[in-house]
Amino acid sequence: MNSLSDLDCQTCGACCSFSSDWPRFSTESDAALDLLPPRFVAADETGMRCDGSRCAALSGRVGVETSCLVYDIRPVVCRECVPGDAACLMARDAFGLTLPLDRSAL
Ligand code: SF4
Ligand code: SF4
Repeated sequence: MNSLSDLDCQTCGACCSFSSDWPRFSTESDAALDLLPPRFVAADETGMRCDGSRCAALSGRVGVETSCLVYDIRPVVCRECVPGDAACLMARDAFGLTLPLDRSAL
């Protein structure tokens, strides 16, 4: 059966490109936010800067190869994102990304 735990964020990046409302700051300390390079922070400082729906800190091509340029210091909401949860699947679906191949059926 499909294993949602097989979802590979490094070949996805959909949730980082889904909505400018998603990478918002929440419970981060001022010290943690100060670590983020200003070029990746929204002008109103309420979240990550986005170009359209895409977080400015996302590198690469969605659905092919992606990485977070601030991974070690990314916002709390990004840390709480769970591959395979409802939000993840909604974002993946928006980009037409399917679930992992069901290898047990081969
Ligand atoms: S949409 Fe899901 S699989 Fe894709 S990067 Fe986000 S958490 Fe990972
Ligand atoms: S900070 Fe990193 S993990 Fe969070 S939305 Fe941007 S690229 Fe994705």
